[in-house]
Amino acid sequence: MKIIDLLNKNTLSLSFEVFPPKTEMGFESVRTATEEIAKLRPAFMSVTYGAGGGTSKYTLDIAKNIKELYGVPTLAHLTCVSSTKETVRNMISSIKAAGIKNVMALRGDIPESLESADRSRWDYTHAIDLIRELREADEDFCIAGACYPEIHPESENQKEDITHLKEKVDAGCDFLTTQMFFDNNLLYNFLYKIREAGITVPIVPGIMPITNANQVERAIKLSGSFMPQRFKSLVDKFGSDPAAMKQAGIAYATDQIIDLYANGITNVHVYSMNKPDVAEKIQSNLSDILGK
Ligand code: FAD
Repeated sequence: MKIIDLLNKNTLSLSFEVFPPKTEMGFESVRTATEEIAKLRPAFMSVTYGAGGGTSKYTLDIAKNIKELYGVPTLAHLTCVSSTKETVRNMISSIKAAGIKNVMALRGDIPESLESADRSRWDYTHAIDLIRELREADEDFCIAGACYPEIHPESENQKEDITHLKEKVDAGCDFLTTQMFFDNNLLYNFLYKIREAGITVPIVPGIMPITNANQVERAIKLSGSFMPQRFKSLVDKFGSDPAAMKQAGIAYATDQIIDLYANGITNVHVYSMNKPDVAEKIQSNLSDILGK
């Protein structure tokens, strides 16, 4: 099932993100967690990919397992930075052999050790190179890309970021998923600007439920996201009480999703991070809206 065919329905649907284990030892617990999430019957599940290929094998194993056991469409992430053409082509062949139709094409983060490397010698410099490769490998792939409502940290300004985003979409992206954000107004503003720039593909906003105070710093470092005062107050108040922080973080994410739906957005991606209890709670908070 191609994910693009599931988007743009009139009612709210949720998708969940999981990540593969780093080692074989962690495989069973990740598989159990991802299966618990699959039982919630989300619209689709995405499985991240370790840039540099460290967990690449497990991305496909987890994605295939969810698809085959639970019939939930899966989106396998794939990165290209610092990879050779041979590695990427082998991965694309494995994706096809696993019967996976949906691929999130990413550049990946440049490892610190390669920051000053001569990029002109790399086989891939940007996600667009991977998108072209995937399109060439299979016209029928449903290809997703990443986008950044608060601009990508490496971009000089939003105009430049959106220009590259448009090139990426024109190269063959069927839809885009956003980086996490904690203020929906940033998303609405971004949507206005990209539509004005002629980007018409569906945008799936990514919502990260922050369920413990330690996650906050990591999330900001990773995404550069703006923390609204309302969110900061919540962390100040509940940060030292794990159970209360979890409840408040889930409530905040739920509230963001309700506001998105009230403003016409029907597909929301939840960065559920291998936490079935968090995915379940968000879904049950929205049960009447989702009709589940
Ligand atoms: P690009 O689209 O290549 O953009 C990166 C930067 O280069 C931007 O500043 C852009 O404006 C600029 N740019 C793009 N094209 C050009 C061009 N032609 N010329 C000059 N500049 C250009 N990382 C992982 O390792 N594994 C994952 O599974 C993963 N999943 C993710 C899922 C989502 C939804 C998001 C938002 C991010 C994810 N990431 C993942 C992180 C991602 O790899 C990083 O944010 C990375 O820094 C950029 O990846 P990209 O595909 O957006 O890159």
